[in-house]
Amino acid sequence: MTAKKNAKAKNTRLSYKLGLPAAIARKVEKTGQTRGAEKDTVYQNRVLRCSTVLIPLSSWKVGVVPPPEGFENGYIVLAHPEEYFSDTPPTSKLDLPKDLQLGKDLLVFYETRPQWIRYHPSHYGWHPAHSRIPPLGGQYLARVPDTTSPGDSLERHGYIDSKTGGQGAGIRIYEYASKTEIEATKYQLSFLVWQTEGIIDMAREEGTLNPEECKAIIEAKCQDMGLIDLNLLQKNRIIDSQQRTVCPLCLKPILAQELASRVEQAEGRNVPDLTVTTANLFHVKELKAGVYNHCRYNLGWGHHHCNAAARDWGVKRTLKWMEEVLTNNGKIIN
Ligand SMILES: [Zn+2]
Repeated sequence: MTAKKNAKAKNTRLSYKLGLPAAIARKVEKTGQTRGAEKDTVYQNRVLRCSTVLIPLSSWKVGVVPPPEGFENGYIVLAHPEEYFSDTPPTSKLDLPKDLQLGKDLLVFYETRPQWIRYHPSHYGWHPAHSRIPPLGGQYLARVPDTTSPGDSLERHGYIDSKTGGQGAGIRIYEYASKTEIEATKYQLSFLVWQTEGIIDMAREEGTLNPEECKAIIEAKCQDMGLIDLNLLQKNRIIDSQQRTVCPLCLKPILAQELASRVEQAEGRNVPDLTVTTANLFHVKELKAGVYNHCRYNLGWGHHHCNAAARDWGVKRTLKWMEEVLTNNGKIIN
């Protein structure tokens, strides 16, 4: 390495990726993004969790509690046409919360064919919106599926391509995390990767010359950031008493190899070693509206299959259910 390159390397800001095998570094990076969304929905596909949040009007009315620091990139409330207009005639407006303003933080969202026909936006001289910050550039957005009837076609308006602000209007509220929280969780997840079995050898095999040093640097940084409360990590089932990263559901130690292996197994492919499973990001308390559970001390690494079982319910409720299943099957639970 030249002196110039050396100096550059020293000046480069520390990254949570330091020393990690490329496949695992990518996996940690992706935890800052939302999950994938199909083109026919209003959601953005794999964007940062701090993006603009979409809130259904029904949730807004019962009182959405924003995070203490607010939503970094704002929010858009979505009202269905029948929530926006009184039913007859469909031109008079219903009483909406006073703090909402169409085109500023509120859009009418068409999702069904009857809505599209009955309350067609051309009746009101409306334009599709395209901005995620106010003014939104229009009053509505539409994702109405095609039907088999002749003359009907797919109606996709607003946030459809790069010219109109990109695909999808925003993210699901329960996926939201602030930029600071995203950064903290990535460091904590990186720390947890360094606590998996076989990570030092794997990093070395991938070309990291000094994996122990990288591990120590990440640990020191996490210590500084207040991310290594071992008792709390253990209480939340993220590490065990020996400080090994474990799957929050089955509590088996996670192998570094499991983090690097791909989830997709080709149909009918012969798996030579059935004990090799994959591991992914795992939310100990599940993601749900009203709480912001993509946060430090709630994220770990867990098996693909354990994740599938606990995704909607979180660990606590899933264990209760499993107990019931086993009891019903004649197993005695202590
Ligand atoms: Zn597991």
